[in-house]
Amino acid sequence: MESTDVQSDLKHVLKSKEEIQNRIAELAAEIDRDYEGRDLLIVGVLKGAVMVMADLARALHSHVTMDWMAVSSYGSGTQSSGVVRILKDLDTDLMGKDVLIVEDIIDSGLTLSWLKTNLESRGTASVEICTAFRKPAAAKVKIPVKYVGFDIPNEFVVGYGLDYAEKYRNLDFVGTLAPHVYE
Ligand code: 5GP
Ligand code: MG
Ligand code: MG
Repeated sequence: MESTDVQSDLKHVLKSKEEIQNRIAELAAEIDRDYEGRDLLIVGVLKGAVMVMADLARALHSHVTMDWMAVSSYGSGTQSSGVVRILKDLDTDLMGKDVLIVEDIIDSGLTLSWLKTNLESRGTASVEICTAFRKPAAAKVKIPVKYVGFDIPNEFVVGYGLDYAEKYRNLDFVGTLAPHVYE
């Protein structure tokens, strides 16, 4: 059973608000440097990337444009289905654009690998990836991730955009769920 008190649903804090904000600022500085003099389109993958998009965008000093996509690879549980569907496509024409995909977390990497290929097929100048969190399995997938916030252990985490059955996205930190929530 879930409790009405969010804190008591969590086992432990993996990355605090401060740790996350400091790391996002570092990534933003790198991105500013790497894309100097270019027009960057940052693409947030809904819904999980809302927090990292909002924080990253505000930490960047360069001009960027923002767009959103919604894809589905997971159900409401914790298992990957391996099936990717576009639920909401971009409004932006990608021809000749430098694109940075912004993700919440890479687990199997299936979603992102599919998404990168999909965007590249639209005539982009470049497509790179930025993720707030990455799990060990993702390292096995042959997709280069240029910007990684944190490499984390292979546990199911919630917060900072990440949900369990659509809850916990609004936490400003990331943590693991107490077993009583999902057992
Ligand atoms: P992948 O295709 O890389 O296996 O999974 C990507 C998506 O799965 C993420 O964007 C996220 O929505 C979901 N996901 C993967 N690991 C976790 C996790 O530990 N916690 C939560 N809440 N979602 C996860
Ligand atoms: Mg995601
Ligand atoms: Mg989810």
